[in-house]
Amino acid sequence: MPFSLYVHIPYCHEICWYCGCNTGAANKAQRLQSYLETLHTEIALVAARLGGRGRVRRIAFGGGSPNAISPDQFAVLLGDLRAAFEADNAQLSIELDPRSLSEPWFEAIGSAGIRRASLGVQTLDPKVQRAIGRWQPLDLIKVAVTELRKAGVESLNFDLMYGLPYQGLAELSATLAKTMEMRPDRIALFGYAHVPHLIPRQNRIDGGALPNAALRFAQAELGHNKLVHGRYDPVGFDHYARPHDPMALAARQGRLRRNFQGFTDDRAEVLLGLGASAISQFPELIVQNEKNAGRYRVRVSSGILPAEHGIARTQEDQRRGRIIEQILCDGEAPVADLLDQDMRHRLHPFLERGLVTIEYGRLRLPDYGRCYARVIASLFDQYRQPEARRFSSAI
Ligand code: SF4
Repeated sequence: MPFSLYVHIPYCHEICWYCGCNTGAANKAQRLQSYLETLHTEIALVAARLGGRGRVRRIAFGGGSPNAISPDQFAVLLGDLRAAFEADNAQLSIELDPRSLSEPWFEAIGSAGIRRASLGVQTLDPKVQRAIGRWQPLDLIKVAVTELRKAGVESLNFDLMYGLPYQGLAELSATLAKTMEMRPDRIALFGYAHVPHLIPRQNRIDGGALPNAALRFAQAELGHNKLVHGRYDPVGFDHYARPHDPMALAARQGRLRRNFQGFTDDRAEVLLGLGASAISQFPELIVQNEKNAGRYRVRVSSGILPAEHGIARTQEDQRRGRIIEQILCDGEAPVADLLDQDMRHRLHPFLERGLVTIEYGRLRLPDYGRCYARVIASLFDQYRQPEARRFSSAI
C-alpha cells in the first residue's frame, strides 16, 4: 500500500511575530543535533512497526523551517528515510525560509532531487515586513527563485498574506505584482489571524495597525481578481496555481485533496507524520505526536512511539470528513442526508446572501462564495459548535 511521509523540523533561525507554527529558535547547534538524533530513532521505530510493508509515495519536509538544519544534516536525514522505508522514488517537497538559504542549501536541494518547494514570503512591502518581524529584501527572494529553479525545482510556491499591519490595498497589490513577475507556479494567499491570546508572540504586532473587516474583505477580493487576471487558476479557496501545475490540474480534474498540510494532489490514503507535533492520518484514525520537543525526545529514546493524541474516525466522521473536503476542494458536495432543520438554520446566513446554493441536495459555492468555504464546511463538522461571530470573522 502506498503512503506518504511528513517530517517536521520545529526550528527556525528567526521567529516571525505572526507565526502560529510549532517552532522554536534554532540558536543552539546541540539542540538541533539532539532533535535529529531523536528523529532518527523515531524513523527506526516506525519502520520496524511497518516491517517493510508499503511504498513511500511522497516525503514532505515542513516546520518550522527545514532549512534551519544544515544541508549535511538534511542529507543524513534523507538518507535515513530512504534506508528505513521503500522511498527511492518518492517525490520530495520542502518548505523553505529564504532568509536562511545559501549556496550549500541550493546544492543539497539539487542533489536530493527535490522538485517542489515552498517559500515563506508573506509580503514584499518593507514597512509591513518590519511590522511583522520578518525582514527580507526583494533581491533575496529573487536569488532564491533563480537558484531553486537552477537546482531543479519545477513547482515553486509562494506563501503570501493579507490582513497584515500597515497593509492596504496598494501594498498588497504591489506585492502581488512583484510576485507574479517572479512567476512562482503556485501562490497561497492566506488571511492573517490576529489571536495574541492564543499565540503570545503575536503581542509584538500592533493590533491598532491591522486592517478592519471591510478592508480584509477587499484585500481577499483584490488578491483573487489580480491572480486570476494574471492567469493563475483558483485552487480550493486560498490557493492559486498556474494552469500547467499539477495542483491546478488536480483541481480541474476533481482530484484535489486536503490534508492537515493544506491542499494537495497526493492521493495516498495514509500519511505518517514524523517529528514533534507531526500528525498522522489514516482513514479510521488521526494521531498527533507529542508537541513538546523535550517530551518527544524522552518518549522516543525510551523506545515508545511518540503519538500523544489520537481520534478514531467513525463511519459517520469519515462521511462528514469527505463532505467537508469536497466543499473545501471542489466548492460543492452532496449534502441531502445532512439537511435537517438545524443544518438549514446554520446555513441560512450564507443562503440568504447567495454565498451558497442548494439544488437537488447538492450544495454549491459560487466563485464569490469560495472565500467562505472554510466556515461553511465547518458547519458540517459535528464536533464544532456554531459560533455567533463565525460569519463576520470568516474572511
Ligand atoms: S520562518 Fe516560517 S515557521 Fe519560522 S517563525 Fe517564520 S513563519 Fe514561522
